[in-house]
Amino acid sequence: MNIKPYYELFEEIYERVNADNEGNVAAYIPELAKIDPEKFGVYISTVDCDKSSCIGFGDYQESFSIQSIVKVLSLVLAIKSGEKLWDRVGVEPSGSSFNSLVQLEFERGIPRNPFINAGAIVIADILLNTLTNPEQEFIQFVRSLCGNQNINYDLTIAKSEKKHGYRNAALVNMMKSYGNIRHNPEDTLDFYFKICSIKMTCEEIAKTFLFLANEGINPLNGQEIITKRQNQRVNAVMQLCGFYNEAGEFAFRVGLPAKSGVGGGIIAIHPKQYSLAVWSPRLNEKGNSYRGFRFLEEFTTETSSIF
Ligand code: GLU
Repeated sequence: MNIKPYYELFEEIYERVNADNEGNVAAYIPELAKIDPEKFGVYISTVDCDKSSCIGFGDYQESFSIQSIVKVLSLVLAIKSGEKLWDRVGVEPSGSSFNSLVQLEFERGIPRNPFINAGAIVIADILLNTLTNPEQEFIQFVRSLCGNQNINYDLTIAKSEKKHGYRNAALVNMMKSYGNIRHNPEDTLDFYFKICSIKMTCEEIAKTFLFLANEGINPLNGQEIITKRQNQRVNAVMQLCGFYNEAGEFAFRVGLPAKSGVGGGIIAIHPKQYSLAVWSPRLNEKGNSYRGFRFLEEFTTETSSIF
C-alpha cells in the first residue's frame, strides 16, 4: 500500500505530540538516565514493505536500548524451539507492576506472563537450554529478522543494569527457590540483561517486527518465522500483557497488540497492515512512553478509515 499520500496527516500528528513534553526518563538504570528526554522518533512500515510503504519522522534513525521490547523476540525464539513453556509461565495480564515480587510469591514462582520481568527471566532461562551459543544465536536471530548485521548488544547498559539490578536478582532467586529456574541464577540474569540492552532504531524495530503483522512470515525475505497460529498467540499476549499494568488502558485507547520498554520504545502491530515503532524516553507513571502512547492513540484514531 502506498502511504506517501498520507505523509502530511502523519506529520501533523507527530508535530502535535512532539509539542507535549510530559513524563520522565527512567532513572533506575543509570545509563538510561543519560538519554536526551526530547528524542522522538516514529517509523511505520506496511506489510508490502517497499519504498512507498514506509515513512519515518524525527529521530527514527537513532538507536536506543530496546529493553522490554526484546521480550517479544525472546518469546518467539522460545516458541520456535518447541520447548514446553506454558507450564512455567502464564498468559494472564499481571495487573501489578512489571517487577513485582509479591505476585510472584503468591503464585509460587510461576510468573503471570512472559512480558513481566519474572516471565522474561524464565524465557531467558529456557533459551539458555535451547541455544548452543545463546548470546551469539540470539543477536543473529534479531539481525536476520531485520536484515541488518550491525545490530548489537550495548554492554555498558547491560553492566549498568547488572550493577543496580537488585530487584531482578530477587525475582530470579525466588523463582529458583520454587524450582522454576534451571540454570545458575546469575547466568540466567546476565543473559536477560544482555538481551534487554540491544540497541536499535525505530526503523530497524518496525522492520524486525513486521512478520508479526504478516501471519508469521517475514515480508523482507518470505521466510516463515512462526506459524500463523503461533503468531496469533504472540499477538494475543502482546495485546493482553504488553503494557505493564496499563495494558487495559492501552487496549481501550489504542487497541493494537504492542510492547513497550523502559528505554521509551514501543512496537505496535496492526495485523495484516503494518508495524509501527515509536521512541520517546519520557515515561508516564506506569513506565510507558508518554508521547509514544499518545502518538499511537491519535494515529490509530485518525487513520481508522485508511487501515
Ligand atoms: N531490563 C529492564 C528490567 O529488567 C527491562 C524493563 C522494561 O523495559 O520494562 O527492569
